[in-house]
Amino acid sequence: MKIVMLGAPGAGKGTQAKMIAAKYGIPHISTGDIFRANIKNGTELGKKAKTYMDQGALVPDELTLELIMDRFQQADCADGYVLDGFPRTIPQAEALTKALAAEGGKLDFAINVEVPDENIVSRMAGRRACLSCGGTYHIVYNPTKQEGICDACGGELVLRDDDKPETVAKRLEVYHSQTQPLIDYYAGQGILKEVDGTKEVSEVFDDIAAILA
Ligand code: ADP
Ligand code: ADP
Ligand code: ZN
Repeated sequence: MKIVMLGAPGAGKGTQAKMIAAKYGIPHISTGDIFRANIKNGTELGKKAKTYMDQGALVPDELTLELIMDRFQQADCADGYVLDGFPRTIPQAEALTKALAAEGGKLDFAINVEVPDENIVSRMAGRRACLSCGGTYHIVYNPTKQEGICDACGGELVLRDDDKPETVAKRLEVYHSQTQPLIDYYAGQGILKEVDGTKEVSEVFDDIAAILA
């Protein structure tokens, strides 16, 4: 099964993608996580990506596509995947459609997690991220057992630099201008499904599971 998660930054794509990945035994591929891992490890790619990410801008398509096409070559992608944070522009979506078609494949679902902008800032300000395993929590909506420590791997949790309110506003702007058009793109392919992302995490997941069943 090949799934794309759509939605604003902070809509809950990553949270749901992890649950989908666990239920269906497919990898969760987050371009943001891959960029952050590269930044943490001080790679060339990480250095390039960081300058864009810190400003709330998108990393250029060329760099992003190189990274993701490389990831698709890994053995764990054979039975599908859930993509989180990719594609984020029409050219990225077109490149994905083309790459899949070249192997006689296609996406099964594009799931749009709908959350209005008003809710996003509080979600981001309270988000805490584990840079070791990519786990995400929320200080109010999804707290860890021990404050500041990842439940999954024991790693240290941080407030991402780009989750500060100034940068969040910019990211929302970028989302509306560059990423939102993907909703129509996938509606046109007949694979768009919408879920209400303002519900509780488990309720959103039930709605998604009903779509995928
Ligand atoms: P969120 O989960 O809050 O939407 P991500 O972790 O997906 O954030 O992305 C963080 C940042 O990484 C983005 O603001 C952008 O700079 C960069 N990024 C991630 N995925 C992409 C992509 N597909 N294309 C371009 N930039 C990306
Ligand atoms: P995205 O990957 O779309 O940027 P995340 O999955 O990282 O979003 O979620 C953003 C923040 O909102 C996190 O702190 C997460 O714990 C929290 N969150 C996710 N889903 C919900 C929900 N349904 N209700 C309340 N908070 C949520
Ligand atoms: Zn962790």
